[in-house]
Amino acid sequence: MSDFPTRARVVIIGGGVVGTSSLYHLAKAGWTDCVLLEKNELTAGSTWHAAGNVPTFSTSWSIMNMQRYSTELYARLGDEVDYPMNYHQTGSIRLAHTAERMQEFKRAASMGKYQGMDLKILTPDEIKERYPFIETHDLMGALYDPNDGDIDPAQLTQALAKGARDMGAKILRFTPATGVTQNDDDTWIVHTEKGDIHADYVVNAAGYYAQRVGEWFKPYGGRTVPMMVMSHQYLLSEEIPEIEAHTKAVGHKLPLLRDVDVSYYLRQEKHGFNLGPYEPNCRAHWATPDDPMPDDFSFQLWNDDLDRIEDIVTDAMERVPLLGTSGVSRVINGPIPYAPDGLPLIGPMPGVKNAFEACVFTFGIAQGGGAGKVLAEWITQGFTEWDMWSCDPRRYTDYTDHDYCVAKGMEVYGHEYAMHFPWHSWPAGRDKKLSPAHAQVIAKGGQMGAYNGWERANWFAQPGDDTSEEATQTWGRSGPWEQRIREECDAVRDNVGVLDLPGFSRFNLSGDGTAEWLRGMITGGLPKVGRMNLAYFADDRGRILTEMSVLRHADDFFTLITAATAQWHDFEILKNALPDGLTLTDHSTEYGTLIVTGPKSRDLFAALGTEADLTLPWLSIQPATVAGHPCALARVSFAGELGWEIHAANDHIADLYKAVTDAGAKPFGMWALNSLRLEKGYRAWKGDLSTDYTLFQGGLDRFVKLDKPQDFRGKAALLAEKQQGVTKRFVTLIVEAGDCDAPYMSTLWHNGEIVGETTSGAWGYRVNASIALGMIRADLAVAGTEIEVEIYGERRKATVQEDQPLWDAENERIRA
Ligand SMILES: Cc1cc2nc3c(=O)[nH]c(=O)nc-3n(C[C@H](O)[C@H](O)[C@H](O)COP(=O)(O)OP(=O)(O)OC[C@H]3O[C@@H](n4cnc5c(N)ncnc54)[C@H](O)[C@@H]3O)c2cc1C
Repeated sequence: MSDFPTRARVVIIGGGVVGTSSLYHLAKAGWTDCVLLEKNELTAGSTWHAAGNVPTFSTSWSIMNMQRYSTELYARLGDEVDYPMNYHQTGSIRLAHTAERMQEFKRAASMGKYQGMDLKILTPDEIKERYPFIETHDLMGALYDPNDGDIDPAQLTQALAKGARDMGAKILRFTPATGVTQNDDDTWIVHTEKGDIHADYVVNAAGYYAQRVGEWFKPYGGRTVPMMVMSHQYLLSEEIPEIEAHTKAVGHKLPLLRDVDVSYYLRQEKHGFNLGPYEPNCRAHWATPDDPMPDDFSFQLWNDDLDRIEDIVTDAMERVPLLGTSGVSRVINGPIPYAPDGLPLIGPMPGVKNAFEACVFTFGIAQGGGAGKVLAEWITQGFTEWDMWSCDPRRYTDYTDHDYCVAKGMEVYGHEYAMHFPWHSWPAGRDKKLSPAHAQVIAKGGQMGAYNGWERANWFAQPGDDTSEEATQTWGRSGPWEQRIREECDAVRDNVGVLDLPGFSRFNLSGDGTAEWLRGMITGGLPKVGRMNLAYFADDRGRILTEMSVLRHADDFFTLITAATAQWHDFEILKNALPDGLTLTDHSTEYGTLIVTGPKSRDLFAALGTEADLTLPWLSIQPATVAGHPCALARVSFAGELGWEIHAANDHIADLYKAVTDAGAKPFGMWALNSLRLEKGYRAWKGDLSTDYTLFQGGLDRFVKLDKPQDFRGKAALLAEKQQGVTKRFVTLIVEAGDCDAPYMSTLWHNGEIVGETTSGAWGYRVNASIALGMIRADLAVAGTEIEVEIYGERRKATVQEDQPLWDAENERIRA
C-alpha cells in the first residue's frame, strides 16, 4: 500500500465517537499529522447502536463542562465541517419524586447557570405544560435542561471524521492495530496488519476493547485497564398517532424525559418512543470464563433480555400511559464499558510515557465532543483547560482487580441516576486495602470509607447509633454522625485524639544532587535537615498541580508525602522528570500513619514512653521509639492542634494504635479531620487545590519563591500574574448556612452577579459555624464583604473572613 502512512505524530487506536473526536481536536490544534486506526468500519464498537442522548446534567463540575462543550460543538459542527446531521436539542425534563432530588436539581441548576446554561426548576403543572402525556400527581417537580437532546451517533462520528480528514488527518478503516513497541527514546511503533507506523504518541481509544489494547503497554510500565462491560438495552416502540399529531401541532419533538428515581429515560424517536432503563437487576458481560469476550464484536448485539427491565417498563407506562398503547418494534442490547466509578479514562496512561487513554466511556456520545478537546489538550499542551481529575486514568491504582471492576461497574450501572450523598459510602468493592489496625478501628465503631482503596474511618458510631444506609440519604448536616463528629472534634480540641490513616502516598527520594533538583521542581523552598514543609508543583500556567509534604532526613535524602488518591499522579510528576543518578521509590503500602493530636498529646507520648525530644518545634521530624516501637515522629497536625504524626512500618501500626488508644487518645475519623482542617484554612487536594487555580489565586503566595535561581515549571506564568494581579482569590467564608453546609462548587453571588465558587465546606465544631473555602473575584476578597452562597438552591448570607485561620490564628496551639 503506497499511501500507507509509516509515520505520524499521534496514532489513535479506535474509531468510535471518542477516537474520532480526539483526532478532530488534535487536527484543530494544528496537529494534523495524526492517524486513526479502526479495525472495522468507524462506529463499529458501542457507537453505532447508542441511543444518542446528549445531556449536560452532572453534579461534577468537570463532567458538566465536558458535556456542555459537546452540546455547543454538536450545534455548530454540521456547518463547520459541511456534514449535515440530525441533532435535536429538544430539552429534557428530569423528574423528582423526593425533596432530596429537588435539592440535587437545584444544585445542578446553579452550577449550570454558572456555566452559562439556563437550567430551570419546573413545578408539576409546568411539567404538564411541556409534556402533556405525563402523569404528575406524585411528583415534586423537575429540572428542565434546554440544551439536552439527541444526535445520530454515526452521523456525529462521520462529521468529526470529515472535519479531521479535511484538515489533513488520516483515518485507516479495516486496519486493526495488533500491538505496540516502545523505542529507546520513548517514541512508538504501532503495528498493524498492513504495516508499522512510527509515532510520538499513542492513544488507546478502543472502547470496550480498551483493556485488551492496554495489555500491549504492560511491558512499558502499563497496568490492566480498570473496566468491565455491561449489557444495556433500549426499546423502540411502534409509531403512535398521538405523538405524530402532537409534533405536527407544536412543531417540535417532545422533550426527553428522565425518571431518575425509577431509573430510565424516555425519548421521542420519530413518532414513537425510545425507552432506556438502567435496571438494578443488571447484567455484566464478558466477566466470567464461560462468557469470554470475542475477538470481534463489530456491529453486533446481544439477544433481548426484557425480563430484567419489566418493572421499569411497567412504571414508565404508568407515568406516560401513551407508551402502553403501542407495541415494541425493536430492542437494542449492546455492550457499554464501565470504569469502577462510571466515569471515563481520559489522560496520561499510568506508568507509560507518551501514551494516553480516551476510553471506557459510558456516555461517550454526550461526552465525546468534550473528551476529544480534553485529550488533545493533554497531548499538545500537557495540561487541560478544566481540572479533569474526575476522569484522570491515574485516579485508580493497584487495587482495581477484575472482581473489583465488575462489582463496582454493576453497582454504578444499577444506580446510574442515584444521588451521591456526602455521608454515603458505596458498599461494593470494599476492603481492598486494610490498615493493620483495621480490626481495632472497626471494634471501636469505625464507619468506613474507601480512599484509594484503603479503608479509613469517617466517624465512630456509639452503641445505638443508626448506621444504616438509609440514614445517609441526606444532603443535610444532621444525622447520627453529627453528635459523634462534635465529640471527636471536642476531644482533639481539649484532650487528645488519634486517627489511623493508612495509605498516605509516600515516596523516598535520594542521591547526590536531590535537593538541587527538587528546588527546580517546586515553587518554594526546601526544609532544613530534620524539618518538614509543604511544597507545591505548578503547571506551565502556574496552576496548582499538586502539594506534597517534604520531610528532609539528610542533605540529599527526602520523604515526600501526599494524598492517598494522588499516589500514581504524584509519583509520575517526579518519575517523569527524574534525572539519572537519583533514586525514587514508592513506600505507600509499607508504612502507616497515626495522627495523634490535641493539647494533651505531649503528655500521652511521655506516658507511653519515648526517648523522642518532644520539645522540638513545630515542623520538626525525628526517628523515635514510641511504646517500644520504632517509628518516625513528625510534629505537625492537619487538625491544627499540638500533635505529632507517627509514621511506622506496617508491622508496628496495630501495636502503636493499641498503645495510643489504651493511653486515652479518642479515635476520630476523616469527617472530624475535614472539619478541623477547614477551621485552619488548610486546603484539600482536588477540592481547594486543583489545576483550575493558580498558586496566587489559591493564596499560596508564601510557597512561591520567584526570586530563586531555579527555573521551576510555571515560574514565567506566575511572574506575569504577580505583575498583573490575580483575577480571583481564595477566601474563607462564614456562612449562615441553615441545614446544609456548602458543598464543592456552590455558586457565590454578590449584588445579583455570580462572583465565584466554593471549593469545600463543612461545619466547624471548634468555631461553631458553617465554613466554606472558595474562590471569589479579587476585588471582593476583603474581610467583612457580605456575599451569598447558593446551597442546594438556597442563597445564604456569607461573610469573607480575614486572611488567616479561623481557629488559632497565630498558630499558638500547634506551636505549644
Ligand atoms: C444500548 C446503548 C445505548 C447507549 N446510549 C447512549 C446515549 O444515549 N448517550 C451516550 O452518551 N452514550 C450512550 N451509550 C454509550 C456509548 O455508546 C458509548 O459510550 C460510546 O459509543 C463509546 O465510544 P468510544 O469511541 O469510546 O468506543 P467505541 O464506539 O466502542 O469505539 C471503539 C472502537 O475501537 C475499535 N477498536 C478496538 N480495538 C481496536 C484495534 N485493536 N485496532 C483498531 N481499532 C480497534 C472498535 O472497533 C471500535 O470501533 C449507549 C450504549 C449502549 C450499549
